[in-house]
Amino acid sequence: MNTHQYDVIVVGAGGAGLMAALYASRTASTAVLSKLYPTRSHTGTAQGGVGAALGSQEEDHPEWHTYDTVKGSDYLGDQDAIEFMCSEAVPAVYELEHMGLPFSRTPDGRIAQRPFGGHTNNETGKPVRRACYAADRTGHMILQTLYQQCIRNKVQFYDEFHVVDLLLNNGVAVGVVAMQLSTGELHVFHAKSVIFATGGHGRIWNITSNAYAYTGDGVAITLRRGLPAEDMEFFQFHPTGIFKLGILITEGVRGEGGVLINDKGERFMEKYAPRVKDLASRDVISRAMYLEMREGRGIGGKRYMYLDVRPETVNRYAALDGRKRPDGSPYVVTAEEILSKLPDIIDFCRTYLGVDPVQQPMPVQPTAHYAMGGIPTNKYGEVVVDPQNTVLPGLYAAGEVACVSVHGANRLGTNSLLDIITFGKHAGLRAAEFARSAGFQPLPPDPTGFARQQFESLRNSSGTERAIDIANEMKTIMDDHVGVFRTEEGMQLAVEKVRELRQRYQHVRVGDTGKIYNTDLLNTWELGNLLLLAEVTAVSALARKESRGAHAREDFPKRDDVNWLRHTLAWVENGAVRLDYKPVVITRFQPKERVY
Ligand SMILES: Cc1cc2nc3c(=O)[nH]c(=O)nc-3n(C[C@H](O)[C@H](O)[C@H](O)COP(=O)(O)OP(=O)(O)OC[C@H]3O[C@@H](n4cnc5c(N)ncnc54)[C@H](O)[C@@H]3O)c2cc1C
Repeated sequence: MNTHQYDVIVVGAGGAGLMAALYASRTASTAVLSKLYPTRSHTGTAQGGVGAALGSQEEDHPEWHTYDTVKGSDYLGDQDAIEFMCSEAVPAVYELEHMGLPFSRTPDGRIAQRPFGGHTNNETGKPVRRACYAADRTGHMILQTLYQQCIRNKVQFYDEFHVVDLLLNNGVAVGVVAMQLSTGELHVFHAKSVIFATGGHGRIWNITSNAYAYTGDGVAITLRRGLPAEDMEFFQFHPTGIFKLGILITEGVRGEGGVLINDKGERFMEKYAPRVKDLASRDVISRAMYLEMREGRGIGGKRYMYLDVRPETVNRYAALDGRKRPDGSPYVVTAEEILSKLPDIIDFCRTYLGVDPVQQPMPVQPTAHYAMGGIPTNKYGEVVVDPQNTVLPGLYAAGEVACVSVHGANRLGTNSLLDIITFGKHAGLRAAEFARSAGFQPLPPDPTGFARQQFESLRNSSGTERAIDIANEMKTIMDDHVGVFRTEEGMQLAVEKVRELRQRYQHVRVGDTGKIYNTDLLNTWELGNLLLLAEVTAVSALARKESRGAHAREDFPKRDDVNWLRHTLAWVENGAVRLDYKPVVITRFQPKERVY
């Protein structure tokens, strides 16, 4: 058996995993296992920016950031954790700067900031520039910077090692099992601490901004090991995905003054969010787009709207809004400026759509984007396993796979890059600290047994089902019934359909029976994860009889704080989903109606 030993094992080499590894490796032997080459992680696609109240260009405060995040979360976020994240944000961004991250700059050399949805001056209610950016490739720069720092710190990398199981012994995490892609061999990684940083699961849906690798492996693995998943019904739909493709057009486009337009040429967000208009939070805008489309005002009656960032449009609406530059002069942009601030977006549109955004509007539709739910943790990244927040020793989670919960029912733009650097760091620190005091606990007998069993049954299946058909049916039912708007009937249908698909999955046939680079086998295993998470999502959503943040029910259109101001916890027991709930941490802000 291939066995390796490290103090700390980090699963995932995105922003959260690398930040965790960087901090853990300062005092503990640390290895990162990643199914992708590290710099191909989804963090690298993040465009718009990382939120921090630096106040580079105008007044801003971590307290305002905290309140905006609580409000954006529709009061489901845990306020102690939110306050912690927003106050850590400012030093965290300067730390990235000092590591060499090439942020865009103001003329006087400070880190440039742009407005993003839901980030406001708490006194005027107007948008505030809080997103620190490196053009429209902020995540790419974070990933490159952290990877270099990890190499410098001698973090050991195991690239293309696909983690397929978590090892527990007597209620303590003791390691993971991974399949090496190039050989098909299973390896055991024995550790004192294990950190999951495996990213999200947006591949449950058809129209999605998420990478192919976003198959929810971390949550599925922990669910199979009897741990709960938190708030899985809350999944964010970003308003501006490229029509039919789902590829993301950053909110930074609207930060730079772009507007959403319907078939009648109207800037419809004026109706739905009179104060901040196109910079309302994402759930609000996605719903407004659906309502407009439903009433026949999609472009040409179809299911998309225009996102218009042509200089003449930007300048016209900026003048109407009275938007000013930080020096007090009117906000006027040129095509060159748009090109320099959004180079990648413009490139995507030219490549994938044949549309040049400085001359034509872009066709956009809401796209599945971000998992607010995930493995429950406290604000130090420690995994908690019940309504009393009991910590599971030696196990940590950070980044999109985790639910701290700082995003509650709806995440604000730029707060995920902030989440990964803040909680990645603290998970790394805690994991290393735990490793210092704990010895290696014994591995369970036959550590690869459960993983082998899963792969043997996939390899030996004599069934006739095709993974691609099951995946397509899952995505369609989730798009149709567990998307932007939801109803009892639709979700019930989705639950039944996904259960049926999980049955059919037992008879799926894997074409490639070899060992070397068997992506067919691993992709089929990933589909099993997506199906599990789809069921947990639909069951959690069906149970929540209210509308809050990204969970919008037509049959229960109001938020219900009396009955539903609580987090969902879901377990999978004997193949069925069991739900329980835990309270939300409220410190300073009592729930209020959200007005934008
Ligand atoms: C298109 C797009 C644009 C975005 N823009 C922004 C933005 O501007 N601002 C913002 O704040 N947020 C943005 N987000 C959200 C944010 O980028 C992500 O939530 C965040 O980067 C996730 O980081 P992570 O470290 O948790 O996961 P990732 O960066 O996805 O890393 C996950 C890692 O886990 C590894 N992994 C997964 N499963 C396994 C397994 N079974 N075994 C081994 N390794 C595994 C992968 O190889 C990968 O290295 C955007 C998201 C998308 C999709």
